[in-house]
Amino acid sequence: MKLEEIFNSYQDYIMPTYKRFPLVFVKGKGSRLWDIHNRVYLDFFPGWGVGNLGHCHPKVMQAVRNQIKKLIFIPNNYYHILQARLAREIIYWSFPGKVFFCNSGAEANEAAIKLARRFGQGRYEIITFKNSFHGRTLGALAATGQQRYQEGFSPLPEGFKSVDFNDLKKVEEAINSKTVAIMLELIQGEGGINVAEKDFVLALRKLCDERNILLIIDEVQTGIGRTGKLFCYQHYGITPDIMTLAKSLGGGLPIGCMVVRKEFADTLGPGTHASTFGGGPVICSAALAVLKAIQKEGLLRNAMEMGKYLFLKLNTLKDKYSIIKEVRGMGLMVGIELNIEAERIVQDCIKEGLLINCTQTKVLRIMPALNVTKKEINQAIKILDIVLAKHTQR
Ligand SMILES: *Cc1c(COP(=O)(O)O)cnc(C)c1O
Repeated sequence: MKLEEIFNSYQDYIMPTYKRFPLVFVKGKGSRLWDIHNRVYLDFFPGWGVGNLGHCHPKVMQAVRNQIKKLIFIPNNYYHILQARLAREIIYWSFPGKVFFCNSGAEANEAAIKLARRFGQGRYEIITFKNSFHGRTLGALAATGQQRYQEGFSPLPEGFKSVDFNDLKKVEEAINSKTVAIMLELIQGEGGINVAEKDFVLALRKLCDERNILLIIDEVQTGIGRTGKLFCYQHYGITPDIMTLAKSLGGGLPIGCMVVRKEFADTLGPGTHASTFGGGPVICSAALAVLKAIQKEGLLRNAMEMGKYLFLKLNTLKDKYSIIKEVRGMGLMVGIELNIEAERIVQDCIKEGLLINCTQTKVLRIMPALNVTKKEINQAIKILDIVLAKHTQR
């Protein structure tokens, strides 16, 4: 297929729900991507947070290849070894409880919302936060505190209230006799890399305990080592009642997972919830390989160290360019707030061979693979330096 044919096919046969850059990729390895012209790009935003291990991690490929030869699918009315192993592994690294497997972040959050409602037995209100993002399905969308995603889709399911992030007083005011859960991302990803304050999170935990309210932490983007710990909540010294995972857990293959604390884990009994493909053998083998690689290759330490290095370098750029307002984040989840439109910077970085993202108009988002090297960071910084210089002169 020629380039033009590809673009035309998309135009003619694929719904226009995404804004796409005119790049066609054919191959990936680690933090590198090759396009159809064999041009190499440095990928510092691999798959919206899917690529924590970089592209085509050899251990994930091997695990998938081995499993696909034996058994591709077995439905959830039977057992298989890999689901058992993956569930045990996730619980081992998180907190005592049980998991529910599905296929995406939105689906994991839907499961959390359903569990909360069952648990509530009449209480059904969930407090969420402004600028949050929890997915595109109707329930997850109702939980998402950003009107621009919701426009034109009413009526959304009721029972969601979004209040100001990091504002305990607003949360307290929003709680009433119908409140059953508080749901948040510890670092709002789509919201612009807004980090939850420690005191705020501790206070939420206390509030939930006192009022018999579930604390749901959406770790779809922050999870699986992104922030330098396997799960972001581990930075805060709290345990969620429910944690949702997806994006990078499958090493590039689709998986969603709801992790529920032991006390609440049997709330959804047989027949109350399901997902046909959830926790199939192939994806479980991939996720097991991901978790193993993170431990064996010391990727949490690398994420921490490279995160520090990246912040250092970005702060140097901040001193140099007044268009950078703030550098914030945790580990390798980084936002650079500008006082100009960030989209132009993203476009120019692509021209220089660096893939990054922007969100909330003025925030550049950088989330390199956890196995990123100093050399690759230096390369990315060099490109950013060139592009920022260009936009500063104007
Ligand atoms: C991406 C994302 C989701 C939605 O995940 P999908 O797999 O696209 O449904 C939910 N929550 C957060 C925090 C996300 O970043």
